[in-house]
Amino acid sequence: MSNIDGYNSNMDRDEQKRAEQYESSENSLILQNAGELISRTEIVTRSVIRNLIREAFKAMEKAYAPYSNFYVGAALLTVDERIYRGCNIENASYGMTSCAEQTALLKAVSEGEREFAAIAIVGGKNKIVSDFCPPCGICRQALREFTAPESFIVILARSEEDYTLYSLDALLPLSFGPDSLN
Ligand SMILES: [Zn+2]
Repeated sequence: MSNIDGYNSNMDRDEQKRAEQYESSENSLILQNAGELISRTEIVTRSVIRNLIREAFKAMEKAYAPYSNFYVGAALLTVDERIYRGCNIENASYGMTSCAEQTALLKAVSEGEREFAAIAIVGGKNKIVSDFCPPCGICRQALREFTAPESFIVILARSEEDYTLYSLDALLPLSFGPDSLN
């Protein structure tokens, strides 16, 4: 997935300042949100991000993908800092296939979890993670049900050191969620 630098002419001007901000605080995050970079402090520190990525790689090892050979792992962080892992699970009836993100979400929600802070996702053909693996549209909507889209963090990773962050709002703008029904 390419980033969205080109969308925001103000970014160049502020980029260095924000990069310095990022370096100066272990607890500060920079999110890409609708063409803007947003700095914020959350429970999702860089050490938490690295741990989530590590857990997502472990989850990928469990993936069942005999048809596509595309293996995906996800690690979903609750606001109480519990982690639920998920992998993609294919089926001979292809339409039954479950994505890693949905597996993690279903596991967590079925255990009573309702609020989430972040998800890390890794994936690749034959478990070779050479590129970012963004969530499909259905997963973005599934996550939207239980998250605040402007603060929920989606971590796309190639390794523990090589990752990019998005708010869910950036990946699913103008979303329809539970509050839309009020
Ligand atoms: Zn999906």
